[in-house]
Amino acid sequence: MSDYHDVVIVGGGIGGSALAASLAAAGVDVLLLEQTEVYQDRVRGEWIAPWGVTEVRRMGLLDVLRDAGGHYVTRHVTYDETRTPEEAEARTLPLGMFAPEVPGPLTLGNPHHCRTLFDEAARRGATTLRGAMVTAVTPGATPAVTFLHNDIEKTVRCRLIVGADGRTSQVREASGIHLNQDKPHHWFAGMLVDKAPDWPDDLQAIGTEDDFNFLAFPQGDGKVRLYGGYPLEQNRRFSGPEGPRKFLDAFRVSCSPINETLVAGEPAGPVLSFFNNDTWTDQPFAEGVVLIGDAAGWNDPIVGLGQSITYRDARTVRDVLVGGTDWSPAAFADYGAERTERMRRLRFCASLTSTIDAEFGPQAQARRRRHFERSSEDPTLGMHGFAVMAGPETLPPEIFTPEHRARVLEDH
Ligand SMILES: Cc1cc2nc3c(=O)[nH]c(=O)nc-3n(C[C@H](O)[C@H](O)[C@H](O)COP(=O)(O)OP(=O)(O)OC[C@H]3O[C@@H](n4cnc5c(N)ncnc54)[C@H](O)[C@@H]3O)c2cc1C
Repeated sequence: MSDYHDVVIVGGGIGGSALAASLAAAGVDVLLLEQTEVYQDRVRGEWIAPWGVTEVRRMGLLDVLRDAGGHYVTRHVTYDETRTPEEAEARTLPLGMFAPEVPGPLTLGNPHHCRTLFDEAARRGATTLRGAMVTAVTPGATPAVTFLHNDIEKTVRCRLIVGADGRTSQVREASGIHLNQDKPHHWFAGMLVDKAPDWPDDLQAIGTEDDFNFLAFPQGDGKVRLYGGYPLEQNRRFSGPEGPRKFLDAFRVSCSPINETLVAGEPAGPVLSFFNNDTWTDQPFAEGVVLIGDAAGWNDPIVGLGQSITYRDARTVRDVLVGGTDWSPAAFADYGAERTERMRRLRFCASLTSTIDAEFGPQAQARRRRHFERSSEDPTLGMHGFAVMAGPETLPPEIFTPEHRARVLEDH
């Protein structure tokens, strides 16, 4: 293996592997380093928004994901304790209208998705290494990455290091890039359920009842990825050996009788809970380094946009690297500015969604009911949901303001 590559990518998750595949296809000399030998279910994103699917296509990877089992979801229902299932289903939303030639969101299991992209990167000519744990990162004019592989330490030099190493990014830390964070709003847990063949495999559902905000995204073949939001005080709600069963039982709600088909299914992975918050970096690059995906800051998972964000990051960075010879920090200025505004807008959307969907009790219930009624008469009150599906850049800036939030929440 050479000790010099034009680009060294740290982290072979979705962002790192997608970028490596796309760069290799364009003839760039790239090394992709991934610490794990086997991708595990870490309860991560398995739903790609329509605007994210467009980014996958722009990366030249849509056929790869479809061939790997990528599954389109074409209908959405919002259930709620303040309306009957019939009322909710009468407002079924078709999902093929948010992006050209995209039938709806695309779902694919995360470990399988990562492995597919990693293998594709190798197939397209990237140098790829599993079980390679990066231990030191040297940014600057002569960037270098040190990693351990089979107990042997090796250092490679490069023109550019890409930090695609997720939430706890070592590349971000070594580059001195500060991570801003807002306060957690609630807990957000997830689990995969299998053997739920009676859940319609074209239907995604979100709903709130009592102290639980549930989300269900089918993957085909009786598999459904489930998420659930619940109050911060209930920090042990789904812990322990009974956690997976308790989590499934939480889906038994009267506002959505169809959820019984999920409760009858089998847990097919761990149930893990996360704080529901946003993080962001002011500038996702430094000399000799650029960050993509969660390493550059992540959006509150309640709106399920981490992969769409990551694919856009990878595509934008690919365009810079393939489009010119300048790989200095100045070349990434437009990426940084676009990402900062994109994340600000998505933070706005996620915070509004959390307030409406994942606050509990009589006051929150009454606010949701009013929101349903008012937004059916004035669709601008639901525009944050449109931004989630179609992309934050599709709406005018005045939607992402405190004044618009106050109008949506009647918070005057
Ligand atoms: C509960 C939850 C639900 C979510 N739901 C959705 C959803 O529905 N839709 C959606 O789009 N997004 C969702 N997301 C977000 C989405 O999963 C992430 O944004 C996305 O996986 C980020 O991809 P990434 O490649 O940046 O990082 P990761 O997937 O974290 O990949 C980072 C990779 O880097 C490797 N790595 C780390 N450190 C090192 C090192 N030192 N050396 C070598 N390798 C290293 C890791 O092993 C890993 O493979 C969710 C997230 C959570 C927590």
